[in-house]
Amino acid sequence: MTVCVVGHSSPDTDSVTSAIAYAALLNAQGTDAKACMQCDADGLNPESKLVLDRFGLAAPEAIADAGGKQLALVDFSDIAQGPANLGDGEVVAIVDHHKIGDVTTNNPILFRAEPVGCTGTVLNKMFKEAGVEIPKNVAGGMLCAILSDTVNFKSPTCTDDDKAAVAELKEVAGVTDTDELFMDMLKAKSAVDGVPAKDLLFRDYKDFDMKGNKVGVGQLELATIDQVTAVRDELVKAMEEVKADGRHSVLLMLTDVVKEGTDLVVISDDPAMIESAFNSKLDGGSMWIDGMMSRKKQTVPNLQEAFGC
Ligand code: MG
Ligand code: MG
Ligand code: MG
Repeated sequence: MTVCVVGHSSPDTDSVTSAIAYAALLNAQGTDAKACMQCDADGLNPESKLVLDRFGLAAPEAIADAGGKQLALVDFSDIAQGPANLGDGEVVAIVDHHKIGDVTTNNPILFRAEPVGCTGTVLNKMFKEAGVEIPKNVAGGMLCAILSDTVNFKSPTCTDDDKAAVAELKEVAGVTDTDELFMDMLKAKSAVDGVPAKDLLFRDYKDFDMKGNKVGVGQLELATIDQVTAVRDELVKAMEEVKADGRHSVLLMLTDVVKEGTDLVVISDDPAMIESAFNSKLDGGSMWIDGMMSRKKQTVPNLQEAFGC
């Protein structure tokens, strides 16, 4: 059976390019595998579209249902972020850089998670360990994933391993200026003109289970917060609709990549608890949190603590 290599829902560049890279590694090692993603090519975020175009990579195949399939998960291990019916499929491998999620397996599997800034960094090591050369275009995708996930090395999640991986991958990919590449990606990623508010909210969005409460956290990385001023009311409306669909809270991180901080928009059954989680006060439904860049390292852990997870 072909192994479907798939990243999390609302795929970001790491989930897309890691699916491509790990499928390539598995195939090189004699395991039949194909890159998949949890959206169709039209649903891909603009940054990932640019990355695939730039390096001539084919978009992974869309899959919605895991039933009856063999799967390798990249960039997540939370059931909530997987395809439907994950329990009816067989997870055969996981490569990740997040907290360990709630996926369980019946058999021993390859499980590789490291506290680095990007799954691409872990995969770069795995290629080297396997003695498999990374194809030039695949290296380009992995390079972009690391720049994206680490916000060009500015995120607190960034490690020396990520920087070392970028230095290696840029040579393989034939990229000379990674700052320029990052700015091209940021421009594509932060373009909001003409995009429906709900699509913006879901562009980089994850649901979490916090002590039985469903909590959604979206993030928009922007060159400046002013980019969303005109659509802010619509974003809040979209958040309210998403919250009404059985969630305790929906948060949207409007992250200013240049100022290095986040305007955190909050819709919650318990706003006071969210305020205490971040030691800040909501003003007009949001609060500015200086230095907040990472959902994984700065937003989710604080929420988990507040929820008593
Ligand atoms: Mg990701
Ligand atoms: Mg990632
Ligand atoms: Mg990300």
